[in-house]
Amino acid sequence: MTTDAVADAQIGRLPVALAVEEIRRDFPAMELKVYGKPLAYLDNAATSQKPRSVIDAEAHWYLESCANVHRGVHALSVRATAAYESARQKVASFVNAASAREIVFVKGTTDAVNLVAGSFARGRLDPGDEIVITGLEHHSNIVPWQLVCEDRGAKLRVARLDDRGDVDMEEFARLLSERTKMVAVSHVSNALGTINPVERMIELAHERDIPILIDGAQAVPHKKVDVQALGCDFYAFSSHKMFGPTGVGALYGRHDLLAAMPPYQGGGEMIRTVSFERTEYAEPPARFEAGTPNIAGAVGFGAAVDYLERIGLDRIEAYEDELLAYATAELEAVPGVRLIGTARRKAAVLSFVIGDVHAHDVGTILDQEGVAIRTGHHCAQPVMQHFGVPATSRASLAFYNTREEVDRLVVGLDKIREVFGG
Ligand code: PLP
Repeated sequence: MTTDAVADAQIGRLPVALAVEEIRRDFPAMELKVYGKPLAYLDNAATSQKPRSVIDAEAHWYLESCANVHRGVHALSVRATAAYESARQKVASFVNAASAREIVFVKGTTDAVNLVAGSFARGRLDPGDEIVITGLEHHSNIVPWQLVCEDRGAKLRVARLDDRGDVDMEEFARLLSERTKMVAVSHVSNALGTINPVERMIELAHERDIPILIDGAQAVPHKKVDVQALGCDFYAFSSHKMFGPTGVGALYGRHDLLAAMPPYQGGGEMIRTVSFERTEYAEPPARFEAGTPNIAGAVGFGAAVDYLERIGLDRIEAYEDELLAYATAELEAVPGVRLIGTARRKAAVLSFVIGDVHAHDVGTILDQEGVAIRTGHHCAQPVMQHFGVPATSRASLAFYNTREEVDRLVVGLDKIREVFGG
């Protein structure tokens, strides 16, 4: 978004829809054409497009500050370290962590969940203990827990979903017991758009002193997250879903918990002293960042946070809510379309099936129209099993999407009905 447009929009001179046209100019990908048609990018839950400020920040780091961090006394290394640590501070402020020491740079949400499963949960689990998750989790918030449960003889318990795609909260509460050693839940479902009542889930877990991790991969790009207000123990998210670079993300962890956790991986950067007899580990977050980190990625991540804060998460959420309501009504009006996931509180994800047309055919035909959506199981096969479908088509919206793009999706679906009948 251009600076003037941001200022105008923030003081309410521009209606939100007009500001979106300005925002789109910040994203080079909005200029792309596929098959000669303007790209309508509706696959934001998979990954988001990047504003020029993010691309420039990363390029600028390679051009002017490229050196390793924390190790050198020379000017470039000092500059690189300052840029890397400043990105950590930005990410910490973005989710209102109490301190930058509570932010560990990781490869992404998957890496963050594996870190907590391997370093935190493993040591707390005895045979017969339990970990509780929900029926709407992404595979990356299922498999790491399965691995650690298998290793320790513990059991994974799953709170089921209802017909709309909401977690059955009575069952969730019932599953928590003295055997539960960890809870891990998504803030927002990537396959259904369901916004989980994480405040209540955290409360219920903490009533029993059970630590809880929130998978925030689909929440942070769309709504203001305050980890202190939530009171969660861990919060995991990925830069690439929030308009930043791929290959970097963050694990927020309460400092007292991180400080008591053993390293996840060994190597350079994560130590205080090393001898062949004994190694002393660095304090967190360095303890969990073995090896040369993704420095350029972290710098781009910081620029993405700057960008989101300039627009304002409250305004983003309000705009996307309005766009979701529009898109929901439009899709429901297409004969043969069945929405999968109609939770009471939803983020801007529309999963659907149309007649008995295979999702891959839907995706391919829409692609020919320049409309990019995702098809398949969305790394959430248990969700597909719950709804009795092998796959869905999924349009996922961001603040740079427009009603006109939703209309193009609907026109594409009409073409699909013509081709396949119905
Ligand atoms: N959790 C959710 C809810 C997701 O949507 C995703 C990615 O789609 C992930 C976790 C994994 O994120 P990443 O692939 O960036 O590690």
